Amino acid sequence: MHSLTLAEARERAELISVTSYAVELDLDQGAEVFGSVSSIAFTCGSPGADSWVDVKARSIESIMLNGTALDPAEVAGGRMPLRDLAAENVLVVRATMAYSHDGQGLHRATDPADRRDYVYGHLFLDAAPSVYACFDQPDLKAPYDITVRAPQDWVVLGNGAATASGPSSPGEWRLATTRPLATYFVTVCAGPYVSVRDEHDGIPLGLHARASLREPLERHAAEIFTVTRQSFDYFHGLFGIRYPFGEYHQVFVPEFNAGAMENPGCVTFRDQYLFRGAATRDELLSRANTVSHEMSHMWFGDLVTMKWWDDLWLNESFAEYMSHRCLVDATEYTDAWVDSSIVRKVWGYGAERSPSTHPVAGVEALDAQSALQNFDGIAYAKGAAVLRQLIAYVGDEAFIAGVRAYLTDRSYSNGTLADFLGAIERASGTDLRAWSSGWLLTADRDTISVDLEEQDGVVRSARLLREVPAAHPADRPHALDVAGWTDGVAVSRVDVMAVGDETPLDGLAGSAHPAVLVPNSSDLTWARVRLDDGTLDALPVQLSRVPDAQARAVIWSALIDGVHVADVSPVTFLDVFEATWVLEGNASILTRMALYAEHRVVPHFVPRQGQARALARLARSAGDLLARAEEGTTRSLAAARLLAGTSADESLLRAWAEGSGLPRGLEDDGDFRWIVVRNLASRGLIDGAAVDSFRSRDDTLQGALNALMCRAALPVPEAKSWAWDQLTGRHGRSNYEMVHLARGLWMSPDDGLVADYVERYFTDVPAMSAWVGEDALSRVVLAAFPKVFTEATETLSRAALRRDDLTPAVRRSLVDADAELREALASRATFGAAMGVGIAASPM
Ligand SMILES: [Zn+2]
Repeated sequence: MHSLTLAEARERAELISVTSYAVELDLDQGAEVFGSVSSIAFTCGSPGADSWVDVKARSIESIMLNGTALDPAEVAGGRMPLRDLAAENVLVVRATMAYSHDGQGLHRATDPADRRDYVYGHLFLDAAPSVYACFDQPDLKAPYDITVRAPQDWVVLGNGAATASGPSSPGEWRLATTRPLATYFVTVCAGPYVSVRDEHDGIPLGLHARASLREPLERHAAEIFTVTRQSFDYFHGLFGIRYPFGEYHQVFVPEFNAGAMENPGCVTFRDQYLFRGAATRDELLSRANTVSHEMSHMWFGDLVTMKWWDDLWLNESFAEYMSHRCLVDATEYTDAWVDSSIVRKVWGYGAERSPSTHPVAGVEALDAQSALQNFDGIAYAKGAAVLRQLIAYVGDEAFIAGVRAYLTDRSYSNGTLADFLGAIERASGTDLRAWSSGWLLTADRDTISVDLEEQDGVVRSARLLREVPAAHPADRPHALDVAGWTDGVAVSRVDVMAVGDETPLDGLAGSAHPAVLVPNSSDLTWARVRLDDGTLDALPVQLSRVPDAQARAVIWSALIDGVHVADVSPVTFLDVFEATWVLEGNASILTRMALYAEHRVVPHFVPRQGQARALARLARSAGDLLARAEEGTTRSLAAARLLAGTSADESLLRAWAEGSGLPRGLEDDGDFRWIVVRNLASRGLIDGAAVDSFRSRDDTLQGALNALMCRAALPVPEAKSWAWDQLTGRHGRSNYEMVHLARGLWMSPDDGLVADYVERYFTDVPAMSAWVGEDALSRVVLAAFPKVFTEATETLSRAALRRDDLTPAVRRSLVDADAELREALASRATFGAAMGVGIAASPM
């Protein structure tokens, strides 16, 4: 298949304007294929010219251009040539399309709970032609009329309000004519979905999920509607433009690759967001953030769409920034920026450390697929941080005025980075060329630290130091603050605009030397924070006394960065964790640091021989917190989950797996039970038959996926070879199934059991691009990357990266996984020996 190039898109947009689409989908043709008739009315600016339409079909029944039949055999690489176009044209393509199972295109999944099928369209980034013939590029917008035939007991949802055309079999549904949409925003969700409906400010609202998720859907509906209402009110006020797409449906769909997708009027979400068991506060915050994020896209992204994929940041950086702003200003989640620091920015900093790092904007995406590679923590978290810097630079009033002008001037059309910055420049009267060159157009980040002189515990002088990365030099002015605490008492705080390599912090002079000094303590800027040695040494005693959760999040983020670049020993991280975690009051920090310690710090940075002791330390902290936390709270839940995942106490695990002695609130929590079962399985304390019996007690999609992971995690060679075959063979496994198999496979008590799959990974997994979509495969490549942290793995990884036959998604994920491997090796080389001593001497 061709991936559309920028040059082709420009040329086609010069030539063609699409007037309208009429799309008929027939979803009543069984589980494999569906019928698709696409009628496109379009004009051609140079009559007589040639172009093409995009179509990726199982078979094409007919193609009619202006009443003349064209030969479908001419379709090659997903393109049908169109010759000698008239000024006004009508193209009708009748085709049979295949459902997908990798979350791209029209995805079809069977719910194991009741064997009923669900369909949803996810047409991002270039999957639209696998659902309907179209001119697939973001700047050829048009209104849509969509009709759907589907089994009679199904519900149909889409971008326009759906109306069933009377009792017929199969059922027929018509969706209201849409506003002009980009091709990748079109969706249809169909199946026996169950619904909760409401209304707000004249906007009909709907929440929808699989029938087997009716209970959690109804339990969570009030909370989701509340955030939806608050976000509508907030964005109406902020943007000054009414929500333009009619009804607003939020559909929770199975096996969704991302968090959600901002289809106008019909947003799709991963259905794990309907937490079936207990949920921590940060999980609710995270869902609220996604709800608000997609809503902000209705303006940024949907009403005004980027002209080409290289301005993807316009969408994602904005939505990331706006959703956090909305949560803080308009909802109960007033600590959303703390969550951003510890969840989103930690993700973004990881992307920034990889050799795949790239500027927020201005990377010319030569084709659509290569743009997908930049859909990462840089586009989201760094982009949002950079927007906060922009606001500090031009002022909030001017920023919002510029945003309003941009949205108003380009409604139902497209915009570019230059258009957007132009609007901010006009509103603020500020020249942004130098600013955007440093912050938007240059990759990487500065490292900031404080150099301080003291005498008798009093600060004499202090400077903020900025180190510019040699590979990506730029002048990035930082609006930030520096703050210090001793025993929980704030002893100093200073706001600065740091320009150049040294900025005096005069405001600190004369104040007491704080025990803990935190550069960027409000986390306004994007930089690596290097904590001074005194602060690092003081953290086990002092961190939990710092009253400002935002500053604690910055400290944890700095520790994580330090571990990854082999500046901070993983033992230091675990020491701070053991001393302070049980006292942590912020839900996001509490749960995220537990996950990070268990799933990243120990497996990546602690050598094999020390891992059991390191996990025992985590389990001890977890047991401690579980004993003191009030049952049913986020603290209790976080403690129970960490204990379930790390404990070596077989009798406790067996009791919990059987449902006895569980902390209150976890009695019927299937997801919690799977954490316990996974621990039992990976330790070899249960066998495959036992996993199957737990599976039969949780006959759901989540149960099936967890059972796959647990079977793959069994520490016996047969389990590993089975998992490898299921993962890399053509068994029709879904995107989610492959990721779960990969996660389980590398759980192993030693490297020997999984050694065979290190070399095979580098041949078998890239070959999967023959049948797995790029979006799904990029996740599989990361999940399946060998968790055997040796130089032999590194040699194979380096060799793989020299190949010239990797698809863009495989290469990008390999680059990132290889970078993580080298971080682990560097840390082990620096601290491994010392850790061996430390592990032997102290009870890790
Ligand atoms: Zn988004």
